[in-house]
Order: sequence, then structure tokens, then C-alpha cells
Amino acid sequence: MERAQARCSLCGKNVEPNAPSRPFCSDRCKMVDLGRWFRGQYAIPGEPAIALDPEEFEEHLRRLEARRAEERAEKGEHDDDA
Ligand SMILES: [Zn+2]
Repeated sequence: MERAQARCSLCGKNVEPNAPSRPFCSDRCKMVDLGRWFRGQYAIPGEPAIALDPEEFEEHLRRLEARRAEERAEKGEHDDDA
């Protein structure tokens, strides 16, 4: 069975078939796309658009990555012993 190579919807890089961040190559691209979507969603004509603070956004990404690393570490403890 032939599977088309998935491409990141944001940057166009190849995406691992079982990547948890699909359809994006990474959580970063996923979050950037989400941020864009939110901005579009809240952009009301005549009203100032809510700008996502870049620093806040980076902080959010860092927390997300830290959490995932923690989750992996927790799972790894059991898997490594087996
Ligand atoms: Zn990407």
C-alpha cells in the first residue's frame, strides 16, 4: 500500500507518519498555526486585533516542550526496565 508523504501544513517539511504533531512537523509549527488561526478568529473589523505577545508565545512553547519531555520521561521509566 502506498502512502503519500505527509507535509507540514505550515512549513512544508516532511512529517513523520506517526508524529503526534501531525499534520505539522513539530509542535512549534502547530502552535504557530494555532496562533495565526486565533488571530484571524479575533480580528474584528474596526477593532484592534489581539496581538499575540511573541515572548509569551515562546514561553508557551517552552512549557509545552517541557511537559512533553516530562511525559516521555515518566513513560520511559517503565519502558526502559522492561
Ligand atoms: Zn513545520
